[in-house]
Amino acid sequence: MTDGSSLPRPQIDVTTWSDVGSRDALDLVASSVAEMIGFEIAIVSVVRGEQMYAVSVEGSNEATAAMLGVATPVSMVLAELERADDWGRFRFVPHERVQADVRTIGWVPDLDPVDSPDAWHPLDLLIAPLFDDVGTMIGLLSIDVPMGGLRPGPTQRQMLERFVVQAERALRMAVERDELAARIRLAEAARRVVRFATSQDDLESVLDDCRHPLLDGFRADFLAIRTYSTGSLPSAGSPSSNLPEHLVETIRGAARRAWTQQRVLVVDERGQPDDSVASPEEFYAALEAMAIVGMGTMMLVPLGAGHESLGHVILGRKDPGLLWSPDEQSGALDIARDIGQAVLNSRTLLQEQQMVSELRRLATYKSQVLSTVSHELKNPLSAVSGYVEILEADPSITGSARRSIESLHRASRRMERLVDDLLVLAVVEDPESLGQVEPMDAVPVVLEALELTRVAAERRHLTLEVDVPGRAVPVCCEPGDLDRVLTNLLSNAVKYTPQDRVISLSLVQHDAEVELVVRDQGIGISHDDQARLFTEFFRSTNPQAVAQPGTGLGLTICRRIVERHGGRIVVESALGEGSTFRVFLPAPSV
Ligand code: ADP
Repeated sequence: MTDGSSLPRPQIDVTTWSDVGSRDALDLVASSVAEMIGFEIAIVSVVRGEQMYAVSVEGSNEATAAMLGVATPVSMVLAELERADDWGRFRFVPHERVQADVRTIGWVPDLDPVDSPDAWHPLDLLIAPLFDDVGTMIGLLSIDVPMGGLRPGPTQRQMLERFVVQAERALRMAVERDELAARIRLAEAARRVVRFATSQDDLESVLDDCRHPLLDGFRADFLAIRTYSTGSLPSAGSPSSNLPEHLVETIRGAARRAWTQQRVLVVDERGQPDDSVASPEEFYAALEAMAIVGMGTMMLVPLGAGHESLGHVILGRKDPGLLWSPDEQSGALDIARDIGQAVLNSRTLLQEQQMVSELRRLATYKSQVLSTVSHELKNPLSAVSGYVEILEADPSITGSARRSIESLHRASRRMERLVDDLLVLAVVEDPESLGQVEPMDAVPVVLEALELTRVAAERRHLTLEVDVPGRAVPVCCEPGDLDRVLTNLLSNAVKYTPQDRVISLSLVQHDAEVELVVRDQGIGISHDDQARLFTEFFRSTNPQAVAQPGTGLGLTICRRIVERHGGRIVVESALGEGSTFRVFLPAPSV
């Protein structure tokens, strides 16, 4: 055998081409041609893109090993067909007409021609193009080395015709099966990509998991996935995207345009820069990248979502003859949309996470400021209160001077309450101030808070009622925090309820949470006020409420405490009809 060329010829892995049954059928045709008509060698080739690959070889082991899977440019075969004698479905090119270069494309038997005018010459070519049902050439049946050493006579030629029909039928079926298998592979790749893309939040893992489905689905030898950085979000990419950065940057322009046009860019040596997708510079950058990664053809697939171009996928094949079919091109775009959506989702999540940590940082900063200012105010305020008390104790101060000192005393008391509340707020607002919360029994805390309220309630002739279960009620809350919430709610109830009414406190255990209810028969809260009740410094415009001293921070503190323990606080009220505050806190899980 002579090959004539030192360049490696493209080759496909025949075992992965079509299914076993179809290949067996082709092998049967090839061996029948050889056996029944008396030829040593029969080869069936299939057209894929611009090459023709030998998918079934009947003949010596040497011929099979040399030919199986090997490519022949379709253009060369067509040129030979032009020069051929018409033998019906078969075409014969006598060796003297065979162009020199065609010797590089097939099997040249090591054979001495017999001494006869009809002798078969090693370079004679006997080939039959095979077509699909719309007349497109899908392959070739080629036979060589007649047993008797002579060119086939009329009877042999007639028989050959019948085998062409069989070979064509078998090849059509195999091609259809191969196309079907390719579609199934693409669909499977798409299904797996969607599953990975929707089951994970981490972008790097999504891209990594998509590698195998893409390489398998597209029968690719190379894959690079790259998503672009935007704002504070970094770019991401699968491990093999190690192309030089300047090339990736240039290719990016083409990917952006390709996304707007919803097209892929096919890159190979034969291609021309397509201005509508890639500028010449971008196209040549892609060609350079292709050479670096040792590929013969590449497909640049844009990644995106909506109007946004988010990255690109590069698929490569070593064999330049294995063209990207229209199905593969549109399938790649579909898959790229799914990956694009995953990129967008994970970016949104990352942005949210960044925002949450920024908000947490701000919340910590705010409580630090609050706490510093409040501490700074506390010392001078204590000094003022101390001096006011000394002055108050002086019996020589009377009349308007005494009245002034009394209002000074009230003002400093108010400021002290405000500073105290601000200090508490600083603590409960700091997301970092709450450690691991251990479950505790709510009953003693409830009873103690009630006892502390009793004096103030009796002073206003209010009846306190309590309803707690006669057993421990475990709740997930810091004891000091629970006490603060109850004290605030009970002191408000006392403050905002006229004489001789009832205030009740009950504790109810539900499955997953514990409910604390503080109910009064007081002045009530208007619908409008309820909407702003738990915001800092809110005080009602109701004159009856304003008459009572307060900072407008008590309920804010309650809400912060409850929420940071994973609970909630709600109010039911109507003006003049009393108010009910309900606090829900999580019960420990059993
Ligand atoms: P403070 O009582 O110190 O003003 P809070 O945050 O505890 O601050 O309460 C905010 C406002 O909500 C109060 O000023 C009052 O108008 C209203 N409020 C709170 N609790 C009650 C209640 N039990 N009945 C009627 N109004 C209430």
